[in-house]
Amino acid sequence: MDFVSRKTGTHYSALLESISAKNVRMKDWLSLDSTRERYFVLRHDVDGDFATAMKMARFEYDCGIHATYFLHAHRSYFDWTPDSSGFLDALHKMQDLGHDIGWHNDALARHLEKPQTVPVLMGIRRPLRFLRENDIEVKGCSCHGSKICKDNRLSNNDIWIENPFVSIAQRGTQDFTHYSLLQFGLDYEAYFLKRTAYLSDNHGGWSGGVGDEIEPFEVPGKVDNTVRDDIIERFNAQPWGMLQILMHPQHWRAV
Ligand SMILES: [Zn+2]
Repeated sequence: MDFVSRKTGTHYSALLESISAKNVRMKDWLSLDSTRERYFVLRHDVDGDFATAMKMARFEYDCGIHATYFLHAHRSYFDWTPDSSGFLDALHKMQDLGHDIGWHNDALARHLEKPQTVPVLMGIRRPLRFLRENDIEVKGCSCHGSKICKDNRLSNNDIWIENPFVSIAQRGTQDFTHYSLLQFGLDYEAYFLKRTAYLSDNHGGWSGGVGDEIEPFEVPGKVDNTVRDDIIERFNAQPWGMLQILMHPQHWRAV
């Protein structure tokens, strides 16, 4: 089995083979000294196509790879109903395969859609509680790129006081409550973690960079595999560092 990017034609197996670094999960990254050798993490923001995410999880297990799957609580695959055993069984299976589950944060967008009735706090607490009450360990989150946030020149990451991309003065002008990741037992936000290289399949193309080129947030990807090859080649030439690869399962198909 393999996976092919719907837009760029990249084969997942070839992508993995091209990386010369040790694979770790995002939660392990926190305790590693990335100034000694090269590491890479696989981050999957599951905005849809949970079936492909599950197939990827199995494929990665067979390749001896560990990944982190960030789940969006307001996509059709996320089953909150009392009869959600099929969904929860799949998440437990993911964990058993050695992968981590994270929360794909859309809390500010939920609040902006219904400012009077949905506080930011509700958008954080509900999905985390649901997952944890069902024995799913959640150690971290990643920010979803919501349109309503962009339209308001905001980001779902603006709810966090740890957000390094917003000044204290800017935060003071934001008309919603800010929280710390630590209040919710979250050890990290994927965008806030140190990284020396970044590769993303955003919009189905490739974007990212090495060192100072890395954009704090997503930029539309180009359907150009030289971007991918260039980033990986330069990362592989570094004596040490961290490469974060973001993939969205809906941009890939099993072959
Ligand atoms: Zn997303």
